[in-house]
Amino acid sequence: MTIELVTAELVVPAERLKMLRETLCRAQSALRVTEGWVDDAQSSETDAQAMERFVKLMYDIDQIAELVREIDRHRPLGIDGKHGDLHTPTCGCGDR
Ligand SMILES: [Zn+2]
Repeated sequence: MTIELVTAELVVPAERLKMLRETLCRAQSALRVTEGWVDDAQSSETDAQAMERFVKLMYDIDQIAELVREIDRHRPLGIDGKHGDLHTPTCGCGDR
Protein backbone atom coordinates (compact mmCIF):
# COMPACT_ATOMS: atom_id res chain seq x y z
CA MET A 1 0.00 0.00 0.00
CA THR A 2 1.29 3.42 -0.93
CA ILE A 3 0.49 6.38 1.26
CA GLU A 4 0.21 9.59 -0.67
CA LEU A 5 1.91 12.49 1.05
CA VAL A 6 -0.18 15.62 0.86
CA THR A 7 1.71 18.83 1.50
CA ALA A 8 0.68 22.43 2.03
CA GLU A 9 2.90 25.36 1.19
CA LEU A 10 3.20 28.25 3.59
CA VAL A 11 4.00 31.54 1.95
CA VAL A 12 6.58 33.52 3.88
CA PRO A 13 8.29 36.59 2.47
CA ALA A 14 11.94 35.53 2.06
CA GLU A 15 13.22 38.67 3.75
CA ARG A 16 11.40 37.58 6.95
CA LEU A 17 13.01 34.12 7.16
CA LYS A 18 15.80 35.24 9.50
CA MET A 19 13.42 36.89 11.98
CA LEU A 20 10.95 34.01 11.77
CA ARG A 21 13.72 31.52 12.54
CA GLU A 22 14.79 33.56 15.56
CA THR A 23 11.19 33.70 16.79
CA LEU A 24 10.75 29.95 16.42
CA CYS A 25 13.99 29.28 18.31
CA ARG A 26 12.81 31.55 21.14
CA ALA A 27 9.50 29.67 21.18
CA GLN A 28 11.36 26.36 21.53
CA SER A 29 13.37 27.74 24.44
CA ALA A 30 10.25 29.16 26.09
CA LEU A 31 8.47 25.81 25.80
CA ARG A 32 11.40 24.05 27.43
CA VAL A 33 11.39 26.54 30.31
CA THR A 34 7.64 26.80 30.88
CA GLU A 35 7.10 23.07 30.60
CA GLY A 36 9.92 22.36 33.04
CA TRP A 37 11.78 20.22 30.49
CA VAL A 38 12.13 16.69 31.86
CA ASP A 39 13.26 16.87 35.41
CA ASP A 40 10.64 18.79 37.32
CA ALA A 41 7.22 17.12 37.18
CA GLN A 42 4.48 19.20 38.71
CA SER A 43 3.61 17.90 42.16
CA SER A 44 -0.04 17.09 41.45
CA GLU A 45 0.78 15.07 38.33
CA THR A 46 0.73 11.32 38.15
CA ASP A 47 3.60 9.65 36.32
CA ALA A 48 1.27 9.04 33.38
CA GLN A 49 0.27 12.70 33.24
CA ALA A 50 3.90 13.79 33.46
CA MET A 51 4.80 11.41 30.64
CA GLU A 52 1.91 12.67 28.52
CA ARG A 53 3.02 16.25 29.09
CA PHE A 54 6.60 15.32 28.19
CA VAL A 55 5.52 13.57 24.98
CA LYS A 56 3.42 16.60 23.99
CA LEU A 57 6.35 18.89 24.69
CA MET A 58 8.66 16.76 22.55
CA TYR A 59 6.07 16.81 19.77
CA ASP A 60 5.71 20.60 19.93
CA ILE A 61 9.46 21.13 19.92
CA ASP A 62 9.85 18.73 17.00
CA GLN A 63 7.14 20.54 15.06
CA ILE A 64 8.97 23.84 15.53
CA ALA A 65 12.28 22.18 14.60
CA GLU A 66 10.73 20.99 11.36
CA LEU A 67 9.84 24.58 10.46
CA VAL A 68 13.35 25.73 11.37
CA ARG A 69 14.83 23.03 9.12
CA GLU A 70 12.64 24.23 6.26
CA ILE A 71 13.78 27.81 6.82
CA ASP A 72 17.40 26.58 6.85
CA ARG A 73 16.80 24.90 3.51
CA HIS A 74 15.94 28.31 2.05
CA ARG A 75 18.42 30.30 4.10
CA PRO A 76 21.26 27.96 5.09
CA LEU A 77 23.64 28.74 7.95
CA GLY A 78 27.33 27.90 8.08
CA ILE A 79 29.05 26.09 10.94
CA ASP A 80 29.59 29.50 12.55
CA GLY A 81 25.81 29.99 12.65
CA LYS A 82 25.94 32.79 10.10
CA HIS A 83 24.29 32.87 6.69
CA GLY A 84 27.30 34.65 5.17
CA ASP A 85 27.48 34.06 1.44
CA LEU A 86 25.46 30.82 1.44
CA HIS A 87 22.82 32.46 -0.71
CA THR A 88 20.01 30.54 -2.41
CA PRO A 89 17.35 31.84 -4.80
CA THR A 90 14.96 32.08 -1.81
CA CYS A 91 17.23 33.23 1.04
CA GLY A 92 15.80 36.73 1.05
CA CYS A 93 19.06 38.66 0.87
CA GLY A 94 18.53 41.77 -1.12
CA ASP A 95 22.14 42.88 -1.19
CA ARG A 96 24.15 40.14 -2.84
ZN1 LIG B 1 21.39 35.01 1.29
